[in-house]
Amino acid sequence: MFAGIRSFSFVDVPDFVSAVLFTQGCNMRCPWCHNHSIAYSDTKEQISIEYILKQAEFLRKRVDAICITGGEPTIHKELTAVIEHLKNTLKYYIKLDTNGTNPQMISELTHENLIDYCALEIKAAPENYQKLTGSPADFSRVLQTVDTLRKSSIEYELRMTYVPGLSSKHDIFFFKQLLEEKERAYITIAQSTDIYTVSPMKELIPKRFILR
Ligand code: SF4
Repeated sequence: MFAGIRSFSFVDVPDFVSAVLFTQGCNMRCPWCHNHSIAYSDTKEQISIEYILKQAEFLRKRVDAICITGGEPTIHKELTAVIEHLKNTLKYYIKLDTNGTNPQMISELTHENLIDYCALEIKAAPENYQKLTGSPADFSRVLQTVDTLRKSSIEYELRMTYVPGLSSKHDIFFFKQLLEEKERAYITIAQSTDIYTVSPMKELIPKRFILR
């Protein structure tokens, strides 16, 4: 399930110094993915849940929060049990990053008070989702997650990454229209100037493109 752990981060959880857990694999294939080495691969050697929980226990003396990111964390059915341990036994503040395609799991996590903060990335306007995600994503599931977060009592943010060469002004306009008053939201620009395609041999081929 896990691809890595970072002991300290000052930027991943608002107002906290945190540890960061990276989960392996993703149900999307965003051609601009900044974590493609772990998101695109399900076969890379994985770190055991037991090891991650031991490290989390050790780090608890030093940090109060954990960010769980990926890849896409919610593709792993073990996620709920892992978070339950981090939250209820180790008493961590939990932030979860998600692409919003598993509204059932987000609903369960919020109802059980297992996460404190959720960052949901809206990739594009619905008609551009396939282009930005490289996959036939069901946008209605993402909207269900938005709805779940709005009805929950946890803190959350909606964000969009503007990818030069792939995103359009229409995506930004759609994102602004989606937002409710005073909702926390961010638009960032993709830091990588590479987009990737997967070759028939499963190799990643970087394709340079020019920032407009
Ligand atoms: S959803 Fe996130 S982790 Fe998955 S491929 Fe897209 S950018 Fe990468």
